[in-house]
Amino acid sequence: MMKMKDLSNKVAVVTGASSGIGEATARLLVQEGVRVVLAARRRDRLEAIAAELGDAAVVIPTDVGDHQQVRALFADVGKRFGGLDLLFNNAGVGYYAPFAESKAEEWQRTIDANLYGILHCTHAAIPWLRGRPGAMISTVSSVGGRYGIAGWSVYNATKFAVVGFHDALRKELAAEGIRVALIEPGAVWTEWGNNVPAEAMRERRMSLDALHPEDVAQALVYSFAQPDNVLVEEILVRPLLQTSP
Ligand code: NDP
Repeated sequence: MMKMKDLSNKVAVVTGASSGIGEATARLLVQEGVRVVLAARRRDRLEAIAAELGDAAVVIPTDVGDHQQVRALFADVGKRFGGLDLLFNNAGVGYYAPFAESKAEEWQRTIDANLYGILHCTHAAIPWLRGRPGAMISTVSSVGGRYGIAGWSVYNATKFAVVGFHDALRKELAAEGIRVALIEPGAVWTEWGNNVPAEAMRERRMSLDALHPEDVAQALVYSFAQPDNVLVEEILVRPLLQTSP
């Protein structure tokens, strides 16, 4: 029989929990007995999800690109739970534009969510992860963090940056027992990519038989539920038919 650690009463923060991969992961973690803090900007969406999940879910609306809001989020987590077992850095935005036509305001928005968001959350979470057996930081990069894709250069820049940041952070935190891991999804059916025409996005996902958010949630729970000394460092999970990039 497959052995997985019992996750009941662990505490997790899931960023970007208002839709897609984050929502599916929050739901699966709660099913596994984890107490989950749902963070994202859309309070109404978070509250609707939390209402379904019951007492195990707490809503703390947060823009991860905003340092003050992130500090407040983790101060609240500390006060409520006294510690943290899992930070799932999942919040992120896509930005499609050939670089020559791209806009500096959009670079900023993309970097704020996809890179600063992870730095802010990780920095604020580390004190609460210390001393918690099996603690983990898991961050969603992308297949686009391993391969460049024409039209996605600024997005690729943020996702590649996350990979480098994690490789160093993993080496810094290992001795403290904090596992640092990456999940790199290929195409997933979510709200992501909403600056690409919806029909083009739908066609691509159809043609690839894209992943569902639950497929990525399972990868996260699998890695989190390993023994405390086992680090599943990186999971690149893609639709079988996605052979490019
Ligand atoms: P969604 O657009 O469905 O979800 C993105 C989530 O991130 C939402 O909950 C959104 O919530 C949140 N978010 C965005 N910006 C911020 C912010 N500044 N502060 C807080 N929350 C924010 O897409 P996915 O589920 O697909 O995206 C999750 C992650 O997966 C992203 O990092 C994305 O880059 C990555 N990814 C997705 C792929 C795909 O094909 N779908 C492929 C590879 C990687 P709100 O708007 O309420 O703040």
